[in-house]
Amino acid sequence: MNQTDAIPAPTITFTGGTLDRADQLRVNPDRLETAWADPRALIVLLDGLDPLPTDAGTLATMPVPADAVLADHALLGLREDGTPLFISLILARSDAPQSFPPKVWEIIPQLSLAEAALYGGARSLVDWHDRHQFCARCGAQTHPVKAGWARQCATCSAEHFPRTDPVVIMLAEYGDQVLIARNPRFPAGRFSALAGFVEPGESFEEAVRRELWEEVGIRTGRVDYLFSQPWPFPSQLMIACMAQALGTQITLDEQEIAEAMWVSRAEVRAALAGEAGARFLPPTSVAVASHMLRWWLES
Ligand SMILES: [Zn+2]
Repeated sequence: MNQTDAIPAPTITFTGGTLDRADQLRVNPDRLETAWADPRALIVLLDGLDPLPTDAGTLATMPVPADAVLADHALLGLREDGTPLFISLILARSDAPQSFPPKVWEIIPQLSLAEAALYGGARSLVDWHDRHQFCARCGAQTHPVKAGWARQCATCSAEHFPRTDPVVIMLAEYGDQVLIARNPRFPAGRFSALAGFVEPGESFEEAVRRELWEEVGIRTGRVDYLFSQPWPFPSQLMIACMAQALGTQITLDEQEIAEAMWVSRAEVRAALAGEAGARFLPPTSVAVASHMLRWWLES
C-alpha cells in the first residue's frame, strides 16, 4: 500500500467507529442467539437519547440481564475482541427536549472518536425505531427484524429500513475568499457553511448549485466532494462540498439566511483561532463546517 492508498485517520466527530457491524449475524437467527447468549455480551446504555458516559470516557454498558428479550434489542456489532454490543430499542424517555439537547454537547467532547461514533449510530437507530412504530403503507403496527436493522409490518409484510437523509453542506469559493452564512437560529456573529437537504431527483452537485442559487443568489460551476459526516439529530448524512462561484453578488433569501458574507483566509484563520477581533464566530468544532473551513485554509 502506498501513501495515497492509505485510509486517512478519521478526525470528524461521529466518524471513526471501530465496531464490526457483523451484518451476517443480523439475518442468521442461530448466530444472533449465540451472540446474545455470549457471556461477554453488553448492552450500551443511553439516557433517553443522550449519551451516558463513564468516568473513563466510554459509553456506559451493562451485561445482558437474565430477563432481557433479544427481540427488543438491536445488535450494534462486535468489538475487535468479539464482544457483542446490543442496544435496547425501547426508548426510556427523559424529560429533556428531543432536538439538540445541550447535554449532548457537554458529553460528546468527553468521548473518544470511536465512542462518539458508536453513540451517534445507536442514537439514530433507537430514535428511528421510536418514530416508526406503524407501517407507512397500511398503518398497522411494525416490529423490529434483522437484529434491529429493519422493521416489518405484521399486516402487509412491508419492510422498512432506518433512514439516512443526505444533506449537502457547502462553501462557495471565489478567488481567495469563501462564502459563509448565518442561520436565523444562530446567535449574532455565529457563521457556518450553507446547507440543505438533497431533494428527490438531484445529484449532490445539483443540490449544492441549487442551494447556493436559492439562498444567496450565487451561480456556481464546478463542485467537488470533500468528506462526509453522519449527524444523528436525527439521521442526516452531511456531504461536504466545495463549489466554484461564478460571481460574488449576494442576494439573500431572508426566510432561510439572516446574513451571508465573503471572508478571506486571514479572517477564517482568526475566527478558528478564537481571536478577540475576529470578524465572525466559527461553527462548533463538532460540526463538519469547522473541518471544511480548516480544509480550505490548508488547501
Ligand atoms: Zn403494513
